[in-house]
Amino acid sequence: SRMWRTQDTVIEFPDGLTISRDELTIVAGPCSVESEEQVVETVTLLKQKGVRFMRGGVFKPRSSPYSFRGLGIDGLKFFSKHCRDNNIKVVTEVMDNSQIEKMYDYVDVFQVGARNMQNFDLLDALGKVDKPVLLKRGLSATLDELLSSAEYVFSGGNEDVILCERGVRGFDKTFRNTLDLNAIPYLKEKSHLPVFCDPSHGVGVRQYVEVMAMAAIMANADGIMLEIHSTPEKALSDGFQTLSFNEFADSVRRMRKTYNFR
Ligand code: PEP
Ligand code: MN
Repeated sequence: SRMWRTQDTVIEFPDGLTISRDELTIVAGPCSVESEEQVVETVTLLKQKGVRFMRGGVFKPRSSPYSFRGLGIDGLKFFSKHCRDNNIKVVTEVMDNSQIEKMYDYVDVFQVGARNMQNFDLLDALGKVDKPVLLKRGLSATLDELLSSAEYVFSGGNEDVILCERGVRGFDKTFRNTLDLNAIPYLKEKSHLPVFCDPSHGVGVRQYVEVMAMAAIMANADGIMLEIHSTPEKALSDGFQTLSFNEFADSVRRMRKTYNFR
């Protein structure tokens, strides 16, 4: 918290790339890594747009065990290879302590999903890892609970933590979740960490994702995470909230403009 440190955290990767409060970070990619071809086409697009971080799950926390649960470590290997060949960082979810070691060489940012925000064993273990952690807010977690979870990683010795608002469960089923924009200025005030927003999960409906990304940027978000796919309607998970490549390209332009305006 601010009581501990007044200076804002700057996360620096070995090649000098940073995540901080001084620039807008865009993280984009499919909900799930589905094939090598998909990784190649996504990397190509990101490179073209100057986006330096690709997301994609290979271990997927699915509500039903019969849904697609990801390609596992084999998927992560080609995901990582194509990213590294193109200077793009790999952001992917780790679901369990036992996965950390085998994922380590292929990952640049370990994502902790909403469902694991209070997996304290996992947070403790990530506190001992020397790679950044992107911590997503739990489905019904308060902001102070999110900050306490970040504290687990931080106090374990890993100070490179990113907080991510991704919507909470409300009473209104019009949308998948309710994106809590209040979270952003609060987290920025109480902590020194970069604060990201994931409007894809936060809204859950493709046509409203971009406008809520803009709203998050105006609320002072330092980064935006977006789900994208060349054919969203064919995505193996979360297609309904996923932007097409063209929609993404337009959004990147408008997000940067919004950021520069603020
Ligand atoms: C995801 O980013 O693909 C994901 C599963 O998100 P969350 O943990 O926020 O539901
Ligand atoms: Mn998803």
